[in-house]
Amino acid sequence: MDSILSPWRFEYVSTATQKPGCVFCNALAHSDDPDSLILYRADHNFVILNRYPYNNGHIMIAPYQHVSNPVNVAPIVLEEMMQLFQRGIQALTAAYNPQGFNMGMNLGKCAGAGVEEHYHLHIVPRWNGDTSFMSTLAETRVIPEDFAVTMNKLKPLF
Ligand SMILES: [Zn+2]
Repeated sequence: MDSILSPWRFEYVSTATQKPGCVFCNALAHSDDPDSLILYRADHNFVILNRYPYNNGHIMIAPYQHVSNPVNVAPIVLEEMMQLFQRGIQALTAAYNPQGFNMGMNLGKCAGAGVEEHYHLHIVPRWNGDTSFMSTLAETRVIPEDFAVTMNKLKPLF
């Protein structure tokens, strides 16, 4: 999904490489979940809003472990990630009623990973004629809703 043309993502790429440490580990270490955009903490993984979303409701699921490849975690960690994936689809459907979803993982820089050292699963709700179409063709970004609004919609659904 990171390979979709999205000019506003340059901000993400440049700030991600400037800040010291890992954005996921930094968010986990933060005491305020809403401020760090964490929606839900499970046993082995957590759910977090993407700070530079492709669409409203763009969430990510990542393990607590700072690991670059899902091959290197215990099966139970992946099992829980898939359970959170189901819950994510249900929550996003209840909150936004999207017409479709993109879901995926970019492993390695050449595959488009923005944070390659800590693997994460993207879930992006999609609507017919949504923002990717706008951004690609018109270089216009449909302003996503405020993160606090997204948090309030999704947090009770997890
Ligand atoms: Zn990390």
